[in-house]
Amino acid sequence: MRRHRKAKIVATLGPASSSRDTILALARAGADVFRLNFSHGTHEQHAERMAVIRSVEAELERPIGVLLDLQGPKLRIATFASGSVHLVAGQAFRLDQSLEPGSAERVGMPHPEIFAALKPGSELLLDDGRVKLEVVRCSPQDAETVVRTAGDLSDRKGVNVPGVVLPLSPLTTKDRQDLAFGMTLGVDWVALSFVQRPEDIVELKTLVAGRALVMAKLEKPAAIERLEAIVDAADGIMVARGDLGVEMPPELVPPTQRRILRVCRAKGTPVIVATQMLDSMVHAPVPTRAEASDVATAVYDGADAVMLSAESASGEYPVEAVSMMDRIIAQVERDPLHQAMLDASHSDPRGTAPDAIGAALRQIAHTLSLPVMVTYSTSGHTALRVARERPEAPVLCVTPRATTARQLALVWGVHAVVTKDAESVDEMTEAACRLAKSHGFAEPGQMLAIAAGLPFGTPGATNLLRIATVGE
Ligand code: PGA
Ligand code: MN
Repeated sequence: MRRHRKAKIVATLGPASSSRDTILALARAGADVFRLNFSHGTHEQHAERMAVIRSVEAELERPIGVLLDLQGPKLRIATFASGSVHLVAGQAFRLDQSLEPGSAERVGMPHPEIFAALKPGSELLLDDGRVKLEVVRCSPQDAETVVRTAGDLSDRKGVNVPGVVLPLSPLTTKDRQDLAFGMTLGVDWVALSFVQRPEDIVELKTLVAGRALVMAKLEKPAAIERLEAIVDAADGIMVARGDLGVEMPPELVPPTQRRILRVCRAKGTPVIVATQMLDSMVHAPVPTRAEASDVATAVYDGADAVMLSAESASGEYPVEAVSMMDRIIAQVERDPLHQAMLDASHSDPRGTAPDAIGAALRQIAHTLSLPVMVTYSTSGHTALRVARERPEAPVLCVTPRATTARQLALVWGVHAVVTKDAESVDEMTEAACRLAKSHGFAEPGQMLAIAAGLPFGTPGATNLLRIATVGE
């Protein structure tokens, strides 16, 4: 099953999308990667969803990527005696570390690290920024605040402290348990929330130890300040606009998104644009025009993937949301302006053999109007470097490693096929032509270009470029 688009779709699974029928329908409609969001659900539920994904993958004969999303150091207030309270503007409100249920005067916040980092004038945003508190006085035990934005506050709502690098471990005890469990499931990507520094990603990579690729979710201004170093440390990036838009004013989210995309595209790091893309489809079968435009903008800017959160996890129209994204992407990619925009924002490749071959492949495919280019890739590195070029022709990646094929499900323009490694250049050429034909990328008599590394099976050793003609 080949897709007729290059940008990919990530769909979050949840209560609205856990049955085999729904997951199959989502994959058929266009979901390339499923996100297991460990902020919600039990290990048992995630294990069940994983088993369904792998069975759907076998049925569709198409690699499906699975992204484990770790909650990270998400801060929350404790509970209230009455479940919720109403705070009025200008009133005093205290945060402390008492275990007593909260009231309209105070509530517990079981995070000593935050108190240590606060200063008079610091802002605390609660419940996705619906309530804003300003610190008046603080100590290592508690903080006196004044309510700046009024609203209702209920049990265990999230707390954001923008502009402050919190002295927190990037992985909580829960994250470590979730990660260990996720590794037993065999997920392909692991994403970490609330990354603050490149060292956070280095720590996660040590724990993952090569068993999956690692993604940094950019949702804190502190991470944006160290953007280049974090992109260098991570295998992938998510523009996590939900929390990012709480921690910075909404008008700063679009330029920040563009800046992240630009850095990722220059480096060739896969990047997802996430959150609220088709938000109104949580309750409606069609999106707003502004939402359609938001998805289109990410595609025009060359994002590898666009993501659905509540739309597919808990919404009323999960399959419709994926179909809608699929149609928006396909429409943008039919617009000649799309390729022109990608070409205009293309930056020079690095001075390495894989990049030189990637750039040459793109040029050859353009000059000869090739229908497809093929990469032989064990680790997926060659395919990634070719995708970085954002070529007109799709990339067919032939790999002996199922994990590589699944990881590449996230990557712009790449269709991966698992097959045993070739033993000679002739065998490789024959397999490339046969697979291009059987997967619907080329017809007999058409030419294609192949990139590979000799000796076969050596990761990162791209050193061969071949043009071949597809036989009968
Ligand atoms: P979340 O991350 O859905 O796990 O919060 C994405 C975001 O914040 O945008
Ligand atoms: Mn988030």
